[in-house]
Amino acid sequence: MNNRLALTRETILTRLDAIADPLTGLGLAAAGRIQGLTIRDDGRIVFTIEAPGDAIDRYGEARNAAEQAIRALKGVTGATIVLTAHNAASPEKRTPAPRAAEGVAGVRDLIAVASAKGGVGKSTIAVNLACAFARLGAKTGLLDVDVYGPSAPTLLGTQSARPAPARDRKLAPVEAWGLKTMSIGYLVDADKAMMWRGPMATSAIRQMLDDVTWAPLDVLVLDLPPGTGDAHLTLLQRLPLSGVVMVSTPQEMALADVRRGFALFEKTAAPVLGVIENMAWFDAPDGTRLYPFGEGGARRTAEEAGVPFLGALPLDQRLREASDAGAPLVATEPDHPMSRRFLDITARVQGAALNAAKPAPVIRFE
Ligand code: ADP
Repeated sequence: MNNRLALTRETILTRLDAIADPLTGLGLAAAGRIQGLTIRDDGRIVFTIEAPGDAIDRYGEARNAAEQAIRALKGVTGATIVLTAHNAASPEKRTPAPRAAEGVAGVRDLIAVASAKGGVGKSTIAVNLACAFARLGAKTGLLDVDVYGPSAPTLLGTQSARPAPARDRKLAPVEAWGLKTMSIGYLVDADKAMMWRGPMATSAIRQMLDDVTWAPLDVLVLDLPPGTGDAHLTLLQRLPLSGVVMVSTPQEMALADVRRGFALFEKTAAPVLGVIENMAWFDAPDGTRLYPFGEGGARRTAEEAGVPFLGALPLDQRLREASDAGAPLVATEPDHPMSRRFLDITARVQGAALNAAKPAPVIRFE
């Protein structure tokens, strides 16, 4: 094996992570600054360091350090590193990287809902976002991508539904609350899917995308499994996402993982549309507002990373009850204050998705 073959994206990103991002102190890759990394056949490495527009002057040294570190790697014949500025005041104008994966026929946008950890309300939010998209007039679907812990059937009250056979040996999605929906929970016993190994899970997901009669849809909302580990990388690289919405609680612990999530999605070329802060506060019956998980952490994390903050959702008993009852709040009580919050957030997700499709970078060559 020659030296060049030994060069991988992982090696390069790990090396770049040894250099501190001047703004956050994280590694350059972990901070989400590295874009468009390409390893050319002749051993030349090309990438951009994307700095917040107002701080670009602080990145010259980091760029030089990155260049030295990359050139020192075995098998590298040269490095082209472009420092670009993006306007921190309008972070939605980030440059989307080219899509690698195949799209889904007849589906315009795939929007994924992700979280670094379980239990932060990702599935609840995915379902209510999908219902909100439908109320805003979009033909909408919901795909539960969590084959190891599917929750869509419970949240939609469709536990006993079974998809009907459709044309061309495909399956018809289960219709519920104005949505076309699919989940591994409709197809196999939960215990069986739990034992699947990675490739089987990936292939099941691909089938739920390709062998289901989704078309025509404006939006397919994907409820991703929790986490930002390596298994996700493989999975996400196969999904042609228009963008990812991250859900987090305001807790500092959860936020460190959110930052890792930004870096992961960058590797998969999916634009991060923004962050939703869930369980942001609780209004006690006596009118006191409590912040059991801290205050405003997700908003600050989004701002630091230059990604849009899409809105906050408080802890709300009705939302929990409606979810447990399998009757999504946005569909059953659209005028509930929580439902109105979901509709506002969904409108912002739509806006961010439109912006992500229209790049307007400011580029400065060094
Ligand atoms: P995840 O998909 O991140 O594992 P879930 O969506 O399953 O999380 O939510 C975990 C639990 O928290 C569920 O019982 C859900 O009803 C509840 N929950 C989520 N968000 C809220 C909220 N804003 N207010 C009250 N309960 C919530």
